Amino acid sequence: MLKGKTALVTGSTSGIGLGIAKALARQGANIVLNGFGDVDGPRAEVLAAGAHAGVRVAYHGADMSRPADIEDMLACAAKEMGRVDILVNNAGIQHVASVQDFPPERWDAIIAINLTSAFHTTRLALPAMLQAGWGRIINVASVHGLVASAQKSAYVAAKHGIVGLTKVTALENATTGVTCNAICPGWVLTPLVQKQVDAKAAQLGVSNEQATRLLLGEKEPSMQFTTPEELGELAVFFCSPAANNVRGVAWNMDGGWTAQ
Ligand code: NAD
Repeated sequence: MLKGKTALVTGSTSGIGLGIAKALARQGANIVLNGFGDVDGPRAEVLAAGAHAGVRVAYHGADMSRPADIEDMLACAAKEMGRVDILVNNAGIQHVASVQDFPPERWDAIIAINLTSAFHTTRLALPAMLQAGWGRIINVASVHGLVASAQKSAYVAAKHGIVGLTKVTALENATTGVTCNAICPGWVLTPLVQKQVDAKAAQLGVSNEQATRLLLGEKEPSMQFTTPEELGELAVFFCSPAANNVRGVAWNMDGGWTAQ
């Protein structure tokens, strides 16, 4: 379905971003990976997912808190792949503390990486999408773009912000072939959440398994994690012709979290 298209997925060396990159590669899209840590492993996984379609995989190590890096990444992606047709704004970090104890530099980093980076990638990717008459911008927000949890002021502010950015981008391009939508996952067992499970286990002196059950039980009625594979399939749907008129939604995949 996506053969000949290129998808740039920020923060795709791990977790949800990697799951989305693999799902898009399975549909034949060439992929530009981004993120920190090991690159060879994720690159091999994405190449394997798209092997049947001969997908190409590039990597750019832009730090998403740095606008100059982001500009360089978009320029390199266009040069190497021709054009970015699908932009997935996924890179994100978390820090947990009450407002009065929240380190200001952590606030700045979360707003820069989880929100401002999507403004920069979007403004840079849009002109070529509009010129081509087709584009998909998918923002990985969170249930925390729709509701709040204590101790997550910067994260909740950034995620509510990216849901707002999604709506404005969708509206400004509503008469074009470029759509913009947000995905709002509940708990997904990635390194970002494993840290929170570990903290709970240490704080309460319980096992990893008990801490996981407590974490899910507080918020997620299904008592199940959403998976990167499921989120990847939602991204594929947003890229399909059936989603041509899906514009500006914040689509939760959260085991009932926000239905309560
Ligand atoms: P993760 O820690 O597994 O992956 C984060 C990715 O972002 C990694 O590839 C990392 O290298 C990259 N990254 C971090 N800082 C970066 C920076 N400055 N520049 C470039 N890349 C950077 O986390 P995840 O759980 O897969 O999270 C991905 C997205 O999904 C985030 O936006 C997160 O807020 C969102 N999300 C996660 C959950 C969850 O339960 N895990 C739920 C809802 C939303």
